[in-house]
Amino acid sequence: MQTHYDIVIIGSGMGGGTLAYALRNSGARILLVERGDYLPQEPENWSPEAVFDRERYKPAELWHDQRRGQTFKPGVHYFVGGNTKVFGAAFPRLRREDFAPLEHEGGTSPGWPITYDELEPYYLAAEKIYRVHGQGGQDPTEPPRSAPYPFPAVPHEPYIGALAERLSAHGLHPFLYPMGIDLRPDGACIRCKTCDGFPCQVLAKSDADVCCVRPALQSPNVTLWVNTTATRLLTDAGGRRVTAVELNRNGEKIEVQADIFVSSCGAVNSAALLLRSANTAHPNGLANSSGLVGRNYMVHNNTALMAVDPFRRNDTTFQKTMAVNDFYFSGPDFAYPMGNIQLLGKLQAGMLTAAQPLVPRPILQAMANRSVDWWVMSEDLPHPDNRITLKSNGDIQVYWQPNNRVAHRKLVDAARTMMKAAGYPLVFVEPMGIATNSHQCGTLRFGHDPATSVLDPTCRSHDVSNLYVVDSSFFPSSAAMNPALTIAAQTLRVAEHLQKIM
Ligand SMILES: Cc1cc2nc3c(=O)[nH]c(=O)nc-3n(C[C@H](O)[C@H](O)[C@H](O)COP(=O)(O)OP(=O)(O)OC[C@H]3O[C@@H](n4cnc5c(N)ncnc54)[C@H](O)[C@@H]3O)c2cc1C
Repeated sequence: MQTHYDIVIIGSGMGGGTLAYALRNSGARILLVERGDYLPQEPENWSPEAVFDRERYKPAELWHDQRRGQTFKPGVHYFVGGNTKVFGAAFPRLRREDFAPLEHEGGTSPGWPITYDELEPYYLAAEKIYRVHGQGGQDPTEPPRSAPYPFPAVPHEPYIGALAERLSAHGLHPFLYPMGIDLRPDGACIRCKTCDGFPCQVLAKSDADVCCVRPALQSPNVTLWVNTTATRLLTDAGGRRVTAVELNRNGEKIEVQADIFVSSCGAVNSAALLLRSANTAHPNGLANSSGLVGRNYMVHNNTALMAVDPFRRNDTTFQKTMAVNDFYFSGPDFAYPMGNIQLLGKLQAGMLTAAQPLVPRPILQAMANRSVDWWVMSEDLPHPDNRITLKSNGDIQVYWQPNNRVAHRKLVDAARTMMKAAGYPLVFVEPMGIATNSHQCGTLRFGHDPATSVLDPTCRSHDVSNLYVVDSSFFPSSAAMNPALTIAAQTLRVAEHLQKIM
């Protein structure tokens, strides 16, 4: 068994999978390490009961909610492709303004060490890799693009098209949301109901496994080890370089050496890996001279909203085609950013039973048949007290106190008003709690100053010269857009840098 590589990438999700793909022809010998296995293609992929009620694709793991003194089941998925195996495949860019400091009602959202314009070419490249279908020119907050979307937008079904017209008639600017599904002429997508939140049984969703890991493995230089968990990174005596990663491979402990190590375990698990790797040179955790490893954890402020018209059935199959950004930077009576409102995949009774166990299923089904379903999402702000730490037994502990809540309440109110005006007398909302950490980010923020950031603008550790992190950890702010495309774009930027230095 080979135990020396040029690069070891830990984690095969949006960050790690994209990096392996970007470097597949670089000549570097790459080992991609993934704690999970391939997600099986099986009938349960599309069963709401299996996926939502029985949580078939979530690990048995529990994390500790430090503020409340209880445990919770986190929204993580340990498979080749990581969380993208179940993601909604929405691929928006951040807004240009998100890269600069932005005043919010709850405080200042910090600027990024790179600008939108620097990231723009990589956004475009990522959109090509992830087959993004979209249409420019509809959303007033849209940042400039150097080229059109690679594929035409996923069109609305008639019911959603009619809703879009009603929203426009009220002065809003609903737009076709950029989506990564394979609707090319010979594409595999069948436009089903079970996309957002479900694994794709026909591999037609643009997840990191399908679009990056499998193509990367066509290169003889890329090796994937599944069922292999990185437990510690080991350094030289001075702590300036990582010399090896300690792995648990199917129960066997192995060390692998490399010239460059990349952690792409997701924002919580990358922070946890660095904390677990504390040693004499790094007593508070690897790469933690700033004391910021694990801090500034963000997840967005999220609320699910069901708008019901009891007299009209919603016969839409693929619902996630529209978003509204009219309140992104301010609202009618609010001078601060509020966030993004996007359609969810069509809710079904089986997806609601876990959240509403006391409501009889026929009632849930009747509601779901007549509802339009939205994800209402506002920016949360980085706060050093919101953080990941390890318990004495090594388990993950999260301290999370939601913030910037006034802006979120305003956005939920605006969404409710919007849907009532569009003809939906009943609007139900369900705020999300600590377990909805799908958009986790910020725990190893990047920046210029080693005193106020963990990573430099190329996502290299300020403290450890051959350690990089490409996953959502690097975000200095969460913005209020879905994160995956930005993770992929910055990963491609880092890949270009790595090719120059290798
Ligand atoms: C239900 C759901 C819907 C979502 N919808 C969207 C959406 O529509 N659009 C969007 O932009 N984003 C969406 N997201 C978020 C998106 O999936 C994440 O932002 C993205 O996957 C994060 O990429 P990452 O590289 O940081 O982590 P991940 O993609 O989660 O990858 C981390 C990988 O590291 C592996 N790993 C962890 N620890 C170790 C270890 N110690 N050793 C080895 N391997 C390890 C994990 O198994 C995993 O494969 C959604 C997420 C969920 C859960």
